[in-house]
Amino acid sequence: MNLPDAVLDALAVLLPVDCAGCGAADRSLCPSCAVAIVARPVTRRLDDGTPVVSALEYDGAVRSAILQLKEHGRTDVARRLAVPLRAALRAAAPRSVQPLGVPSSRAALRRRGYDPVALLLRGAGVRAPRQLTTTRPSRQQKSLGAQARATNRDGYLRAIHPLTGGRFVLVDDVSTTGATLLEAARAVRAAGGEVVAAATLAHTPRRISHASEGSLDS
Ligand SMILES: [Zn+2]
Repeated sequence: MNLPDAVLDALAVLLPVDCAGCGAADRSLCPSCAVAIVARPVTRRLDDGTPVVSALEYDGAVRSAILQLKEHGRTDVARRLAVPLRAALRAAAPRSVQPLGVPSSRAALRRRGYDPVALLLRGAGVRAPRQLTTTRPSRQQKSLGAQARATNRDGYLRAIHPLTGGRFVLVDDVSTTGATLLEAARAVRAAGGEVVAAATLAHTPRRISHASEGSLDS
């Protein structure tokens, strides 16, 4: 992350903001959008059987708020969205299992200047040291078909150090095809770690193993 959270938070306070969910004036998140982000955890499974608990459906105010966080620099919303993410995390695994944030691609990190998943974890008060890194720049995922996207992802992440004996719950913001979580799980296992489950803030309302256009996995 390039800018410290404190700086981003301070900027969000100083600059006038609109509701990240619906655009209503002068609120970080208006009351009706606050209701929309109350966690309703749903569990699905990755193709490798790993359970994935998602707090919210990626739609409406939820989708808007997440896009504001990820693509429009609205880091002030991270603390609000951290609440449902924490609920998903609690439902996914016991506290003894270590949360592991799926890192942004290098291109996304360069573009945003911050890692939304890291911000969400910090907002949730979760200690999750960085365990994975990208091995090479990922080609634009959005321009690829589902099969090419899956292939492109293979080997895209690796552990920074051995994870032998570690038990982890993967954490990501939005699960779409599940390809990113599968790749993260593969990288953790390759380093000797165990993946107990995954938790995401939101999921697209379709089967996780199915491809979709406009993936937000990165
Ligand atoms: Zn609103």
